[in-house]
Amino acid sequence: MAGAAEDRHRQRRLAMVRRQIEGRGVRDPRVLEAMRSVPRHRFVARKLAGDAYKDHPLPIAAGQTISQPYIVALMAEAAAIGPQDRVLEVGTGSGYGAAVLAVLADSVVSVERHRKLADSAARVLGDLGYDNAAVVCADGSQGYREEAPFDAVVVTAAASGIPPRLVEQLADGGRLVIPVGPLAFSQNLTLVRRMGNQTTSKKFCPVRFVPLIEES
Ligand code: SAM
Repeated sequence: MAGAAEDRHRQRRLAMVRRQIEGRGVRDPRVLEAMRSVPRHRFVARKLAGDAYKDHPLPIAAGQTISQPYIVALMAEAAAIGPQDRVLEVGTGSGYGAAVLAVLADSVVSVERHRKLADSAARVLGDLGYDNAAVVCADGSQGYREEAPFDAVVVTAAASGIPPRLVEQLADGGRLVIPVGPLAFSQNLTLVRRMGNQTTSKKFCPVRFVPLIEES
C-alpha cells in the first residue's frame, strides 16, 4: 500500500515538472532532475500531501508557506548552482527548498527564525538522507557569517532592498537570488552577481513572498 501511494506521488511529481516547470521554460537539466527527485509531499502536513504537487504555495506551521514548485525551480536555476558550490538559504520553512539545493550543491546551510520550523525541517531532511544540508535557527537577514563566503545565497522571504550583509557574504563570482520590493504588494525576484567589489543586479520575475523579518 505504502509503495502504491509513493508511486502515485512520483507520477504527480513527474507531471508537475513537465507541466509547471519545463512547460514554463526552466531548462537546466540538473534543476529539473532535482525537482523530479525531491519528495515534496514529505515536507507538508499529512493532510496536505495530496496537494503537494499542485501549482501553488501551501501553508506550513507558524503561519508560513512552502513556495510554489515553479518558483523554487526558477530560483535554483537563476542561482546557477554547481556540484562544488557552498550555498546559503535564508528561510528554511518546510525544508523543501533546502533539499532541492542540497541535490544541486556540495553543501547547504539553511537559516530559519522559527524554532518549530527549523526543528521539523532538520528532522525531515535527516530522515530523507539530505546529509549535506544543515539547518540553523537564527536571523538569516544577517546571513551566516560563520560559514561565509557562499557561492550562492537564495532568500525565500521578501526584503525591501538588497541586504548588504548578504552581498558581503558572496564569494567572488557568487550569486544572490532574492525577492525584493514593497512587502504588501508584489516583489521582483532579483539576481545579484558579485565580481570582486562590483555587483550587478537584474529583476527577472514578479512574485509574492512572506516578509524577511529583520531582527538585528
Ligand atoms: N524555502 C521554504 C520551503 O521550501 O518551505 C519556504 C520558506 S517561506 C516562503 C519563508 C521563510 O522565511 C519562513 O519560514 C519564515 O519564517 C522565514 N524567515 C523570514 N524572515 C527570516 C529571517 N530573518 N531569518 C530566517 N528566516 C526567516
